[in-house]
Amino acid sequence: MIDVKNIYKTFFVPHEVQALHNVSYHVNSGDVVVVIGPSGSGKSTFLRCLNRLEKANKGHITIDGVNVLDPKTDINKVRMEVGMVFQSFNLFPHLTVLENVTVGQVSVRKRRKLDAIENAMDLLNKVGIHEKASNYPSQLSGGQQQRVAIARALAMDPKVMLFDEPTSALDPEMVGEVLEVMKTLAKEGMTMVVVTHEMGFAREVADHVVFMDEGKIVEVGPPEHFFTNPTHDRTKLFLSQIL
Ligand code: ATP
Ligand code: MG
Repeated sequence: MIDVKNIYKTFFVPHEVQALHNVSYHVNSGDVVVVIGPSGSGKSTFLRCLNRLEKANKGHITIDGVNVLDPKTDINKVRMEVGMVFQSFNLFPHLTVLENVTVGQVSVRKRRKLDAIENAMDLLNKVGIHEKASNYPSQLSGGQQQRVAIARALAMDPKVMLFDEPTSALDPEMVGEVLEVMKTLAKEGMTMVVVTHEMGFAREVADHVVFMDEGKIVEVGPPEHFFTNPTHDRTKLFLSQIL
């Protein structure tokens, strides 16, 4: 489903940083991959390269057979298939909840408005927030906003969902409701790549955990490997700090 081969990403401003250094990874359809690692290790850059929010300098990325880095590839088509949820929700503040979940379906997926609304209401129901359909994002709690962001991403019928620390900006009592929605998606077979510090989620839901440090993938394995028997010193140190 996702195939990443030998990608590099260097930022030159404000100073030169090699954010990704020869990263390769393969995600099978239906897999839930959790990416962990210290701040600045390249986790977000890795996710953002997958849908070309950042352009890798070198290497190959294919998603569902489409060459993401080929300049001839219509990146908007790729992004339709790859939903993304950010730490900071990023809802459209001037649109209602329902409009947030409808707008892309009409403008990008070219659905009829009524179909889009019906689909949006189903999805809002699924994430448990249909009663807020006519509210604006600023009228919702963080957990509610994040659930709307997930519904909005799902409304495009993506084949893959990317989550970049989706619960890090939430008050602790709202983390659970967002993780529940993500667990449901995982159970339904969605292919997911999730950057998170929620080790309970990793343990329970991940098929594979990826540990990154200094722009490289240092260690990969099933969750039980990480929590009982990590191999690398850097992995051990990181886990000792967060567990
Ligand atoms: P965190 O856990 O803090 O979110 P991360 O693992 O997601 O960290 P990245 O955001 O991928 O780390 O950053 C990797 C490196 O690339 C860091 O040194 C960061 O400063 C740098 N970097 C990331 N984005 C940019 C950018 N747009 N411009 C310049 N440097 C960047
Ligand atoms: Mg990050």
